[in-house]
Amino acid sequence: MSTPARFQPEADSLDPTDWQAFRELGHRMVDDMADFMAGLRERPVWQPMPAELRAELRQPLPQAPAELAEVYADFQRLVQPYVVGNVHPRFLGWVQGAGNPVGVLAELLAATMNANLGGRDHAPIEVERQVIRWAAEMLGFPLDASGVLVTGTSLANLIAVLVARTRALGRAVRQDGLAGRPLVAYTSTEAHNCVSRAMDMAGFGTAALRLIPCDDDHRMRLDALAEALAADRAAGLQPFLLVGSAGTVDTGAIDPLAGLARVAREQGLWFHVDAAFGALAMLSPEQRPLLAGLDEADSVAFDFHKWAQVPYDAGCIVVRDAAAHAAAFATVPAYLRREARGLAAGQPWPTDFGPDLSRGFRALKVWMTIRTYGADKLGEVIARNCALARRLAARVDAEPELRRVAPVALNVVCFRFEAAGGDLDRFNADLVADLQESGIAVPSTTTIRGQLAVRVALVNHRTRAEDLDLLVDALLAAGRRRAGAA
Ligand SMILES: *Cc1c(COP(=O)(O)O)cnc(C)c1O
Repeated sequence: MSTPARFQPEADSLDPTDWQAFRELGHRMVDDMADFMAGLRERPVWQPMPAELRAELRQPLPQAPAELAEVYADFQRLVQPYVVGNVHPRFLGWVQGAGNPVGVLAELLAATMNANLGGRDHAPIEVERQVIRWAAEMLGFPLDASGVLVTGTSLANLIAVLVARTRALGRAVRQDGLAGRPLVAYTSTEAHNCVSRAMDMAGFGTAALRLIPCDDDHRMRLDALAEALAADRAAGLQPFLLVGSAGTVDTGAIDPLAGLARVAREQGLWFHVDAAFGALAMLSPEQRPLLAGLDEADSVAFDFHKWAQVPYDAGCIVVRDAAAHAAAFATVPAYLRREARGLAAGQPWPTDFGPDLSRGFRALKVWMTIRTYGADKLGEVIARNCALARRLAARVDAEPELRRVAPVALNVVCFRFEAAGGDLDRFNADLVADLQESGIAVPSTTTIRGQLAVRVALVNHRTRAEDLDLLVDALLAAGRRRAGAA
């Protein structure tokens, strides 16, 4: 038997004395991760982490070294079995992407390059610029639009709010602050909570965000928007920003984007779209027409880590007018001086387009995923998810114990088990927890028109029809058990 590989650092650096040992351990990790991904369907989607294992992750700061092989064994024992499960084909909760094997390898390469993409003149920044141009092309934006990769749509939406603020008040706002100016913004009642958080973090306060009511399809009502704008103007307030949703978090609804674009143009508002997952539907010829008007936005926030299947995290903001974008963030302290040549060349730098200075090489996993699979294949995943959502809706409609509570615009299906007495909100919440704890499937919940609903979001390239059948069968069985026991 060969002796197990030992990772021994050099006395005067953190590199191994023996790169062969590093290689062997690395190869084993790649092999194990391939086995993990290949065997996902056979595993529980999620299982709670036992208390005694949690306790092992509350150790004091280790002063002494440990064997890398032992640390890896702890990862396999403590972490890998108890992850959130969004890689699994039957993870259908919230709105989470599944990642992909190419992205896994890209993360290894990116970590090895260890590039800092805040700025300067190097190839990783060109990779990010390529990704941003692809994003602009996908959205139907001009190719000289600016953009930057961020942690997620929450931060991308915050960037959009700050760009809209600077557009409304000029660069002076960055020095003077809002100084009590009565700016107000508009979005729908169905918008993601991070829009409201962005208004909070940007210093406007959430009260400066008007939540416009929606129609029966959960889309913002243009008549109600017009009324709110008129009322605010009459009250001496200054409307500056309209945020549409393309794929709402609860039901996947898409606001009337072309109508919103027209209102924004007429009223001189910045038109931003939160298209966290919906933007990627532009890659599917079948779904693309639903997004008509998205290409008229001033800015769009979306995630590569949701429907593009890039491993977490990879959010993106794209802004039509690069100068307006930079006006909100660019500053040049002496230690970040730009030059015409040398490593300090290559401006504008990504740090000119967002709050981050040091930034990792997120762009590589996006670039490698899109190049390897191609945009058409990613679009097919989206079309397949939407077809599965329609199939699931049909099954729900055919089951007498279930009632669907929202239309299916894209990839989200909301329904309730109603063949039970008592508090149906509590019943359905318990049902979802039963299912999650069973490890069979993970839906989540939301509230639709005041009623708690089971929510199934199809975002995962691995999900098949049989997975949804398993979910519904398990849910019906659990519901009948609970209703019988009650
Ligand atoms: C997921 C989501 C967000 C938040 O995005 P993060 O990447 O989690 O920050 C915002 N809006 C919508 C519609 C979403 O689905």
